[in-house]
Amino acid sequence: MPDFSFFGFDEKVMLGLEAMRFEKPTDIQSQVIPEVMKGSDVIGCAQTGTGKTAAFLLPVIDHIIKKPETEKTCALIVVPTRELAVQIAQQLEGFSYFAPLSSIAIYGGGTGEVYANEKRALTSGVDVVVCTPGRMISHLNLGYVDFSRLEFLILDEADRMLDMGFFDDIMKIISFLPKKRQSLLFSATMPPKIRELSRKILDKPAEINIGLATPPEKIHQEAYVVYETQKIELLPMLIADRTMKSILIFGATKTGVKQISRQLKKENHDVDEIHSDLEQKEREAVMNRFKSRQTRILVATDIVSRGIDIDDIDLVINYDVPNDAEDYVHRIGRTARAENLGKACTLIGLKEQEKFAGIEKLLKREIAKMPLPDKIGQGPEYKPSGKKHIRKPKRRFQKRGRKTGTKRR
Ligand code: AMP
Repeated sequence: MPDFSFFGFDEKVMLGLEAMRFEKPTDIQSQVIPEVMKGSDVIGCAQTGTGKTAAFLLPVIDHIIKKPETEKTCALIVVPTRELAVQIAQQLEGFSYFAPLSSIAIYGGGTGEVYANEKRALTSGVDVVVCTPGRMISHLNLGYVDFSRLEFLILDEADRMLDMGFFDDIMKIISFLPKKRQSLLFSATMPPKIRELSRKILDKPAEINIGLATPPEKIHQEAYVVYETQKIELLPMLIADRTMKSILIFGATKTGVKQISRQLKKENHDVDEIHSDLEQKEREAVMNRFKSRQTRILVATDIVSRGIDIDDIDLVINYDVPNDAEDYVHRIGRTARAENLGKACTLIGLKEQEKFAGIEKLLKREIAKMPLPDKIGQGPEYKPSGKKHIRKPKRRFQKRGRKTGTKRR
């Protein structure tokens, strides 16, 4: 893990970090900070305790220090509760101790005097505003808030805000902001309504997931315990249902992906493949055909499992067990987007049982093992040895749509 000097922060930010005794970035900081600094929108799935606050505060502070001074607000952070607003405002103060930066926390309750102070700060202009939605709207409605030069919108704990019924308030606040801005959304969970919100307000966001998000409940998950040679026989039966209009099959290697695709073509299935042997242009063309449902089946290495938002996949098949639970969640998360129900099937080869047991352990649930069709014959017993599966080292940086630091797949 690099230290904070890696990001090229202004010296004043480095001093703030030192004062706060932050030595090394956490996982989410390593992933989010470069994305924010290069100007991308971000959707971050992370819980409190991961260091997400600093992940968005540090690049924003650094940006404000480096840009020409103005009197106008540069960043707006919207949060569900006053506790969180206070907490974020305190971290902000700590990090920007050595920087010429002004901020205010605006939240419900408080006396008329507090309100008057907030009004004064908003009228004269502060660099960063941290707020709860309701209180912010009452200021905005009175007309003295100037967000015309706002560059960053950050929604923290977005799922909680929606649970608390703030969707309309958030959209109303956004209606006061410039269209051209950088937006970051953080949420501990990614239910469909968060996806909807992110589609409305984010522009091609980098998707960053920290820790294990559990897959949505409505994805029907099942697995088949097979010998390796039975996989290719079973596959056509899994995709036989013609009501499944969009099917994504993941293979572990590009050789495997090519074989699967060849076999399905032989059986006259409408299929495309995607892996690292394809040029970027070809990949895009394949993705576009699949997204627009011109191709029914896409066989892929996991280059598409993260980052790229393909909606409405009816079925995800893990032809091979993914290497870790995070990949599993990402892959099956391609299905059951928005209001759709989805299905995910995993084929567990004899040598993959430990890996799958590891995934079940992390998901804290068992996935139903389906009986094999008679035609396929008997499969092996599901009897993971209990030996620990060695997981690959974690990736540190995540670019959109493709992982770095791993083998080309
Ligand atoms: P958060 O998830 O942002 O609420 O942060 C959880 C706690 O971890 C807070 O108390 C932070 O001050 C602390 N923290 C976050 N990032 C770091 C870091 N890189 N080094 C040390 N402490 C950190």
